[in-house]
Amino acid sequence: MDTKKIEEHVLGILEAIGEDPNREGLRETPARVARMLEEVLEGTAYSNHEIAEMFGKTFTEESIKDSENAVVIKDITVFSYCEHHLALMYDMHVNVAYVPHGRVLGLSKIARICDMAAKRLQLQERLGRDIAEIISEAAGTTDVGVMIRGCHSCMTARGIKNVSANTVTATYIGAFRDNAELKQLVKFD
Ligand SMILES: [Zn+2]
Repeated sequence: MDTKKIEEHVLGILEAIGEDPNREGLRETPARVARMLEEVLEGTAYSNHEIAEMFGKTFTEESIKDSENAVVIKDITVFSYCEHHLALMYDMHVNVAYVPHGRVLGLSKIARICDMAAKRLQLQERLGRDIAEIISEAAGTTDVGVMIRGCHSCMTARGIKNVSANTVTATYIGAFRDNAELKQLVKFD
């Protein structure tokens, strides 16, 4: 990430909104914003395939390979930024389920995959697809369900200012597509 360039442009934004970038509170702001963006958009540097390789440590469990043994993890919290307004998406909860095909992913790896995929300029719908695609590759399974619930500050803090608006999106691949019981696994309570 070109942090020097971010600093220059943030300085320009401060000037453009009529601020004095030299006042004490703002003097270090361009550098702070650059460091923050480098951290919160870390996932931009990696493709889904690279994230799958990064967190794709699996354990062989030959006995676990049918829908009775789906792995479910609920309420993974992530933050992301909407690509339309560069606005924070917060209070985001991700439910993930997959049917192992003889291999299981470390549970903490699933949370890390969600976190890294969220650290990009995103759309909530695409985040769900990204997570499903990465889990599918990392766990070597075709069957993944992802449901995300989140608040978008471009909707809650501006525009229609609907403070309590939640957006829920679902992504189903493989066996999840037409299996109501599997879909049920990723539903929010
Ligand atoms: Zn937005």
